[in-house]
Amino acid sequence: MERVRGREQLLVRPGEGFPLFLLAYPKGEEDAIEEIETILAHRLPMLPHRIIEPYAPTLAALHGIVVVVLRPRNTCECLGHCHPRGTESRLARRLASDLNSPVGEIDLAYEAIRKWEPHPISSLAAGELGGQLQALHFQAAFLGVFLHELEHLVFPNKVERDIRATSNDFYMNLMQELVSQAGGAGYGMNASAPPDG
Ligand SMILES: [Zn+2]
Ligand SMILES: [Zn+2]
Repeated sequence: MERVRGREQLLVRPGEGFPLFLLAYPKGEEDAIEEIETILAHRLPMLPHRIIEPYAPTLAALHGIVVVVLRPRNTCECLGHCHPRGTESRLARRLASDLNSPVGEIDLAYEAIRKWEPHPISSLAAGELGGQLQALHFQAAFLGVFLHELEHLVFPNKVERDIRATSNDFYMNLMQELVSQAGGAGYGMNASAPPDG
């Protein structure tokens, strides 16, 4: 596969029920990309059904391959975008023409996502998990934004408010799951906290 100037590519195969994800990322970002590859190849397919279930229609509607353009940050400060049909990068357009089938595309700003806190993680049982908590937060936040953009891609007429509500719930549910798997006391959210956005 041809390389885009200054960018590396990595194909991730989460397995049955998922499309392939072609990651395109800047040279020199291999550590962050390895973390993201692990999340997409191993964490995503192992999610409990009750957590991934709201995204079942999105995953079922995706084409065989989705291009995921990764940058540390976006100049517009967004966490990610979906690229509606006709606005894809040259990479996605070439791939679509090589495969003779449509190729979806999103972009994600992973360092911005790392800093994004839809709910204050200071309210977690942080003492017990120590430094692990930031890694768990990144897994939940990355997958939350990733699935949020995929839902936009598949359902362009859905409104932001609904897509946002689903991804915020997903983040919270996954944080609860990851924290309890890691042996923390649980995700100690204040039940009265207002939803984000
Ligand atoms: Zn933007
Ligand atoms: Zn959105």
